[in-house]
Amino acid sequence: MESIGHLFVLSGPSGAGKSSLRERVLRIFPEVGYSVSHTTRPPRDGEIEGKDYHFVSAKTFRAMRKAGVFVECAEVHGNYYGTSREQLANHLRERRDLLLEIDVQGARQVKACFPHACFIFVLPPNRDTLERRLQFRGTELQEDVKSRLENASKELLEAPWYDYLIINDVLEQAVEALAAIIRATRFRREAVLPRFINLLQPE
Ligand code: 5GP
Repeated sequence: MESIGHLFVLSGPSGAGKSSLRERVLRIFPEVGYSVSHTTRPPRDGEIEGKDYHFVSAKTFRAMRKAGVFVECAEVHGNYYGTSREQLANHLRERRDLLLEIDVQGARQVKACFPHACFIFVLPPNRDTLERRLQFRGTELQEDVKSRLENASKELLEAPWYDYLIINDVLEQAVEALAAIIRATRFRREAVLPRFINLLQPE
């Protein structure tokens, strides 16, 4: 079905499995764009500039923020992250769906500008799993793991205002849940009504 350009916002604590979920779902829906954020965090092994993130210095980020480049931005775990306004506007102008994977502070800012976007929160099945996932990820220093765990408790408190909550216990099932949300969103009345109105008009 033709899309009107939906905005999907995916949040959840580090270790909830957002990135794996996002990667898998974007394989099912290759037409859904992914918003590549800017960050001041250094690249992890294997991360590619322009694909995973746009890696910039704190000075550059601050200058960009001042120039209004970001539709939302936040400091997370001591680094800055931001979503490019232009990237988002281009997608929506072209009526293409876009997925943002951003933290809860950023999601609140997006909610203020796009109240009808679809907000999805990914939860770990329990705290032990969250800790284990963070420890075994091996990409973070021990200090960072601690700060990410502390931050997780705060982020989880934000889950109730999201439209959908996905408990990521078994990845396959979480992928199915997110795919179902994307499909259902495309059938929301505001997406379909313009076509319905066309039907009512005589040729
Ligand atoms: P990581 O460093 O693990 O890639 O990301 C840390 C956190 O920053 C995650 O919760 C991720 O969703 C969030 N994040 C990534 N990009 C953005 C962004 O553009 N804006 C905001 N607000 N958060 C982001």
